[in-house]
Amino acid sequence: MPLHIATPLIESRPLSSAARCPAWLKLEALQVPGSFKIRGVGAACEEYRRRGARRFVSSSGGNAGLAVAYAGRRLAVPVSVVVPESTSERARELLLLEGAELIVHGESWHEANLLALSMLGQADAFLHPFDDALLWQGHASLIDEVARSALAPDAIVLSVGGGGLLCGVIEGLHRNGLGHVPVIAVETTGAASFNRSLHAGRLVELEKISSIATSLGAKRVCEKALQWSRQHAIRSEVVSDRAALVACERFLADHRLLVEPACGATLALAYDRSPALAGFTRVLFIVCGGATATIDQIRAWTAERA
Ligand SMILES: *Cc1c(COP(=O)(O)O)cnc(C)c1O
Repeated sequence: MPLHIATPLIESRPLSSAARCPAWLKLEALQVPGSFKIRGVGAACEEYRRRGARRFVSSSGGNAGLAVAYAGRRLAVPVSVVVPESTSERARELLLLEGAELIVHGESWHEANLLALSMLGQADAFLHPFDDALLWQGHASLIDEVARSALAPDAIVLSVGGGGLLCGVIEGLHRNGLGHVPVIAVETTGAASFNRSLHAGRLVELEKISSIATSLGAKRVCEKALQWSRQHAIRSEVVSDRAALVACERFLADHRLLVEPACGATLALAYDRSPALAGFTRVLFIVCGGATATIDQIRAWTAERA
């Protein structure tokens, strides 16, 4: 039994109507730890345990850290998560609720990550949030489920942070004979590291992240994401924080599910009837989820951008 669940794949009338094209949703927000991350993290944790790991270490205060904490609890392997002081109270609570050891260190993720790496002993496994082939293999199970369904999408829309989800979805498309299905990769302004690298034709590191979509805040995407762009049709789109926030609010009203702005970015393409969707007849939106969002936070951010 894997640590993730097979999620519902449903048609969305509200998104189809907004986008003026048939829209389908893969509801990763319903994973127990709140996002698709448990697919790859769960598979990687199981593999590292098989190889003898006695502890899992993470430096993510977001959905990746939560997935590691959940996987560790399910596999009865202790978990240590090092997060920076900027980590929200909500994220800290959720990590503690999963029984992880929480170490708060440093001003930014960089310092927290350095401490996490320095803590690694012989029997520890470090779980990277997006750059690990085991992770991509696990994320690919999402497309295995789509391939077993009656839906044959002609485009897939997903959000990109460090590119782990992108690599997993494309691996899943190729291993299911769907290598011809294009992917529309969405980021927010201020976190568009994939967009920058794609246009430069090489990996570009952003100087800083200035988007509220923190789960998309990787300054640099993984090398594999750029490699895939040379072998697979990927279109890159960038939306504003405000568009992502409005999409979160509308999605809550339409489907009764609260997601993070990182996921709202993907949904914004439908709600804003993006030209990138023109001509497609069955578009699959990956509702990647997000466990640390609260409606109060989303509304406060929206009010700041009114
Ligand atoms: C991690 C995450 C992303 C970005 O995924 P990457 O694999 O880093 O590209 C997007 N949305 C949510 C909710 C996430 O947790």
